[in-house]
Amino acid sequence: AVQIEKLNKWYGTFHVLRDIDLTVRRGERIVIAGPSGSGKSTLIRCINQLEEHQSGRITVDGIELTNDIKNIDKIRSEVGMVFQHFNLFPHLTVLENCTLAPIWVRKIPRREAEETAMHFLREVRIPDQAHKYPGQLSGGQQQRVAIARSLCMRPKIMLFDEPTSALDPEMIKEVLDTMIELAEGGMTMICVTHEMGFAQAVAHRVIFMDQGQIVEENTPQEFFNNPKSDRTKLFLSQIL
Ligand code: ATP
Ligand code: MG
Repeated sequence: AVQIEKLNKWYGTFHVLRDIDLTVRRGERIVIAGPSGSGKSTLIRCINQLEEHQSGRITVDGIELTNDIKNIDKIRSEVGMVFQHFNLFPHLTVLENCTLAPIWVRKIPRREAEETAMHFLREVRIPDQAHKYPGQLSGGQQQRVAIARSLCMRPKIMLFDEPTSALDPEMIKEVLDTMIELAEGGMTMICVTHEMGFAQAVAHRVIFMDQGQIVEENTPQEFFNNPKSDRTKLFLSQIL
């Protein structure tokens, strides 16, 4: 579903991504881990073109990412993204957050968009919050709205950038459970997270990044119990 070949990116003179090669097949679930500043967010932001890259190729579902605006819209409607800070529209209700893009970007009739939104709000177990505003919800509930909102666009791939790192401990589980259900439904997922239980439960592969490079790529089992590189061992000793 996603193919990345020799990807390089600079911020000014800072070489943030170095020769990244990564292929994610349909239905595959990848966890990306690594120290702060290693380029994890930058890498996944390149996949839906929130960031431009300078060399190499990224192909999403057979479409190569270029600067063509039509191509950007197409990719963004196929690739859902959930961020650390939920990025909901505060002045819109939960239901309106979920129907805005389907109605205006996908041109879906309001009634149908609302039915779809309620379907996904049920999936994330908060249909009763549909008419509240984001500010009236807990962090965990807001993050589940953000997931439902992405799903309303019927994405083929979901990207997550530390979706639980801004949450209180008691809310982390409800968001992870939602993500596990999504995984069980067969969604292609690329998740930046340090939630190792989640990685072990759902990831097919763990990618470890350091200083803009993929240092290690392994099954969760091997990654946690038998890491190959010293850099990975050091990282694991700090987070486990
Ligand atoms: P964290 O775990 O803290 O979220 P990360 O692995 O997601 O880190 P990135 O956010 O991808 O790291 O950042 C990688 C490097 O690029 C960092 O050194 C960061 O300071 C730098 N960087 C990120 N965004 C920009 C930007 N817009 N302009 C310049 N440098 C940036
Ligand atoms: Mg980051």
